[in-house]
Amino acid sequence: MWSHLERGSSPVDWCESNYSISPVIAEFVNTFSNVLFFLFPPVLMHLFQEYSKFCNPAINILWVLLMVVGISSAYFHATLSLVVISTGFLVMHPAANAFALMTLIVPSIGFLFKELHTFLALFCWVIDRLFCDAWLSIDFPYMHGVWHILIFIASYTALVLWAYINAVEERPEQKPQLRYWPRNDFELGVPYVSIKKPYNKQDLNI
Ligand SMILES: [Zn+2]
Repeated sequence: MWSHLERGSSPVDWCESNYSISPVIAEFVNTFSNVLFFLFPPVLMHLFQEYSKFCNPAINILWVLLMVVGISSAYFHATLSLVVISTGFLVMHPAANAFALMTLIVPSIGFLFKELHTFLALFCWVIDRLFCDAWLSIDFPYMHGVWHILIFIASYTALVLWAYINAVEERPEQKPQLRYWPRNDFELGVPYVSIKKPYNKQDLNI
């Protein structure tokens, strides 16, 4: 098992050349393009405070899961070693990484046709592997990094839709709303679910 922790133990190597930017980080761009996975969840925990309190506190597990995926992915690209998470619930491998993220998207499968991000993300993942020579020839072997950013946006969008549908079904009397942060009229803002009207005092204690 410990051999999986060694540098370079991964059978998969991505298009980005290794140790070209930093002598200690194997794939620099592929490592730091995971930053959204751990910068955003604390913000999301804050934005979804009402949802967590009045509707479903389990949403916080998903934000933590996104951070685990991001940290594992960054570690993987920094060292190109396979990591076995000690709890055993997530075996880190590019395929497992992709699979874990895909299962987050499944709840909103009906929205996939509107989910341009998902298609773009998958597209980037595939073309990084298939057309690496072409990307190298134009000095842009970073399509896998682009995939990290797009798959984060796609996973997050799917989770917001799932949370919104869940809130509308479970708590219609509390009038859940899809809002955007930092400004509600800002289309490029971060969408979140707001629940402004607790039904009565007893609901606050659930
Ligand atoms: Zn990756």
